[in-house]
Amino acid sequence: MTDLMEKIVALCKRRGFIYPGSEIYGGLGGTWDYGPLGAELKRNIKNVWWKDVVQLREDMVGVDTSIMLNPKVWEASGHVEAFTDPLVECKVCHARIRADAKDEIEKHGKSHDKKVDWTEPQKFNLLVKAYLGVLEDKQAEIYLRGEITQGVHVNFKNVLDSSRVKLPFGIAQIGKAFRNEITPGNFTFRSREFEQMEVQYYINPQKDEGEKWYEYWKKFWMDWYISLGINGDNLHFKDHKEGERAHYAKAATDIEYNSPFGWAEFMGIHHRGDWDLSRHEQYSGQSMKYKDPETGEEFIPWDIESSAGIDRSALFFLIDAYTEDDKRVYLKLHPKLAPFKAAVFPLLANKPDLVKLAREIYEDLKQDLMVAWDERGNIGGRYASQDEIGTPFCITVDFQSLEDKTVTVRDRDTTKQDRVKIVDLRDYLNGKIK
Ligand code: ATP
Repeated sequence: MTDLMEKIVALCKRRGFIYPGSEIYGGLGGTWDYGPLGAELKRNIKNVWWKDVVQLREDMVGVDTSIMLNPKVWEASGHVEAFTDPLVECKVCHARIRADAKDEIEKHGKSHDKKVDWTEPQKFNLLVKAYLGVLEDKQAEIYLRGEITQGVHVNFKNVLDSSRVKLPFGIAQIGKAFRNEITPGNFTFRSREFEQMEVQYYINPQKDEGEKWYEYWKKFWMDWYISLGINGDNLHFKDHKEGERAHYAKAATDIEYNSPFGWAEFMGIHHRGDWDLSRHEQYSGQSMKYKDPETGEEFIPWDIESSAGIDRSALFFLIDAYTEDDKRVYLKLHPKLAPFKAAVFPLLANKPDLVKLAREIYEDLKQDLMVAWDERGNIGGRYASQDEIGTPFCITVDFQSLEDKTVTVRDRDTTKQDRVKIVDLRDYLNGKIK
C-alpha cells in the first residue's frame, strides 16, 4: 500500500470514519463498517446526490426496491449466465476472462505495460447466494442483488402507471449491492458489500437523442464531482472501446479518479439501449412498452444509465481532501460533505460563563446543522482535531463574547478568523455551506 493510502486508512480507523468489518472476530474479507464520522460522510453524499438528482428535477423520481429479487430477474439480466463460467481474473485490472479463451487471455496480457498475473481458474459466480425460507434447498435459493439496477427496471411499469412521468424521465435509486469479488482490496475500493447510487434515464429511441443524453449525463456527473471539491485534474473519462463493452451497450464510459493505486473507476455512464427492458419483457411475459401520449405509438425506451459507488466516492472524496502542510494535516472536504459543519468551544473549560454561552450556541445551531462540541485541552489542540476530520468552521466563545455577543469563527482552510455576531451565526454558516 502506498504511504498516502496507509495514512488515510489509519486516519479513518483512528477518527471513526471506517473500520474493518467484524474486526473483533478477525474480520470478514471485503467488508467495512462506517463509524460515527464515516456514517455522516456517506449520508451527506447520499443527501446531496438525492437533492440534485431527484428533489431539484421534474424529470426524475426515486424508488427504493428490494435487495432480494425473484431469481428470474438475474436470468433475464444475464447475470446468472455470465457469472457461472470458469474464469481467470487479471490481477492488474480485475478483468475476468473465461479460462478457456486462450487467445483473449494472451491478447489481454499484452494490453498492460506490466507483466500480468492471473488467478487460478475458478467457477465464479459474482452473485451472492442466500436461502430464503426454512429449507436450504434449490428452490429456496436466491441471490442478493449484484447491482441495484434491476430493481428499477422491473418496476418500470409500476412507475409509469402510478406517477405522471413522461419520456424523457429518470428513476433514481440508492442502495446496497453484493458481489462475490474474487480479489477485494484497496481499502473500500473493491468490497463484497457496497452501496450504489444510480439513475436509469429512459429516452425515446425514435427521436435519435441517445448521443445527446449520453453526453448530457457524462457532463452532469463530471461537473457534479468537481462542484463537490474534487480536483478536476484527478478525473477523466475512460471510454469503453467496441470490444470492451457489453454486446448490447451502444456506448459506455467510466469516470476514473487518479488514486494512489492508479486511475480507478468510481462511476460508469452506459447507453444500454433497450436491453434490460426487452429482456424483462421476454422473461416475464409482461409488456415493458411505453405509449407515447401524443402519437399513441408503443415502444420500449432506451436507457442511459449512471451508476456510481458510494463507498468509492467517499474514498476518493477523502483522498482528494487529504492535505498535509508543514504545520498540520487537514481534510479539505466540501462543507456539504464534511461530517460536522462546525464545532463550538468555550475558550476555557473552567469558566462557567463561557461554557454556558457556548452551550447555548451549540444547542441552538444543532437544531439545523451537524455541530460538534469540544471543551477538552487547549484551543490549538481542538483546532487540530477538527481540521483532521474536515470540520470547516470552529466557533470560539471568548471573554469578548460575554460583552458584545460576538464569537470568532475560524476557517479550516485559511485558518483566518472572523468576528461574527451570535445572532448572525446561522446565516453566516448557511451562506458558507452552500
Ligand atoms: P469494476 O470494473 O471495478 O469491477 P464494475 O465495472 O464491475 O467495476 P459496475 O458494475 O459498473 O462496476 O458498478 C457500478 C459502480 O459500482 C462502480 O463504478 C463502482 O463505483 C461500484 N462498485 C462496483 N463493484 C464494487 C465493489 N466491489 N466495491 C465497491 N464498489 C463497487
